Amino acid sequence: MDLAIPEFRSIQNPDIIPDKWYNILPDLPEELPPPKLPSGEPVKPEMFLPLFPKALIEQEFSPERYIKIPEEVKYTLASLGRPTPLFRAVRLERFLDTKAKIFYKYEGVLPTGSHKINTAVAQIFYNRVEGTERVSTETGAGQWGSALSLAGALFNIKVRVFMVKSSYHQKPYRRIMMELYGAEVIPSPSTLTESGRRILEKDPDNPGSLGIAISEAIEDVVKSDKAKYSLGSVLNHVLLHQTIIGLEAKKQLEYIGEYPDIVIGGVGGGSNFAGLAYPFMQDRLSGKTDTRFIAVEPKACPTLTRGVYEYDFGDTAGLTPMIKMYTVGHRYRVPPIHAGGLRYHGDAPTLSLLVYKGYIEARAYHQTEVFEAAKIFASTEGIIPAPESAHAVKAAIDIAREYSGDADDAPVILFNLSGHGLLDLQGYQDYLEGKLVDYEPEKIDLSYILRK
Ligand SMILES: *Cc1c(COP(=O)(O)O)cnc(C)c1O
Repeated sequence: MDLAIPEFRSIQNPDIIPDKWYNILPDLPEELPPPKLPSGEPVKPEMFLPLFPKALIEQEFSPERYIKIPEEVKYTLASLGRPTPLFRAVRLERFLDTKAKIFYKYEGVLPTGSHKINTAVAQIFYNRVEGTERVSTETGAGQWGSALSLAGALFNIKVRVFMVKSSYHQKPYRRIMMELYGAEVIPSPSTLTESGRRILEKDPDNPGSLGIAISEAIEDVVKSDKAKYSLGSVLNHVLLHQTIIGLEAKKQLEYIGEYPDIVIGGVGGGSNFAGLAYPFMQDRLSGKTDTRFIAVEPKACPTLTRGVYEYDFGDTAGLTPMIKMYTVGHRYRVPPIHAGGLRYHGDAPTLSLLVYKGYIEARAYHQTEVFEAAKIFASTEGIIPAPESAHAVKAAIDIAREYSGDADDAPVILFNLSGHGLLDLQGYQDYLEGKLVDYEPEKIDLSYILRK
């Protein structure tokens, strides 16, 4: 065994945190198709006023390349553990016998265990400034709900989370976190909203879905003028807030004289991938570099690899505006894979455009091979990855393995380890016992999307 200590420092001094977020909108290869109503009419920014604070609506459509991070947001994120570490996966490299250098940015050190707190703090801050008293949201497995609940506790804003009922009962740990942070967690469908009541009348045992929970959260805030809605991925302003990840990583790599040839991330709605990738994508779009970007998704929900780039609803019920994105259709029933954060039928509009234009490659994996990669990573690097993040681990391992022995063109690989998997041990147990199911998405019906 090679026990030589490599020349590497983990750089984490606070001045690595950037002062500004990077907004990719003005640098896109063509203008982003706007959100539309089902009638075809473009959605005007004012139409979002019942849902979001003004500052976030401005960011959603902003033409500014850099947007200042408010001091309060920067300070809060620093107090929670930013900058996050950038590690070189030396033991993994040795295990793979690769000449590639593998770096990863680790967001799991943040208190709720993933990158989602980066946007939760920013969103709650602007709500606080504009006088919102309560914020409502939906959550599946609870990563987003727990991040927003913590941010609410820090800025003294009430948080109400509609949590998919099956997760509420079967995956209680993140619900307990949310309750500890003082949030109100409601199993969805609930009797609190009309959409919930309508479903329960017909089907009292309905297990709920993210689509239903979104409908409930939106209805909840539209009925109140002191409450706003909050979303944990997909929207431009969410991806903007996450660029803090890539901006930090860029500086950290600069300190050691490195720059990535390949940037990798797992994609649900696209926020952690975009957060890491976009500051490097800026260099590629301006012709300075030819870095490759690889978005990794589950085969059970293959939006980028088997979906279409079309206008579709953001939610299952069809209440939201339509956005142009890669989609497997809002009626697609996503199989119950363990990577709950990747079970979304679409992708962020900017990410979708960049995939469509060929700037980002996409790959899909089955969950068994993803957990296998996670096991290799855990036993070499020590960190047990979230099943979502393990998709990025799998792609990084596959690519690094192509450069074994004396390959002298070996690349520098950078991937996002978006969270830890310590609350996902059930998935690991199923893997160890050989009980994981690899779902084939046989029925992707796109006809109702393409007909419009
Ligand atoms: C929510 C989540 C994801 C997926 O969401 P994105 O918006 O695509 O980043 C990935 N990893 C972790 C750890 C998550 O909690």
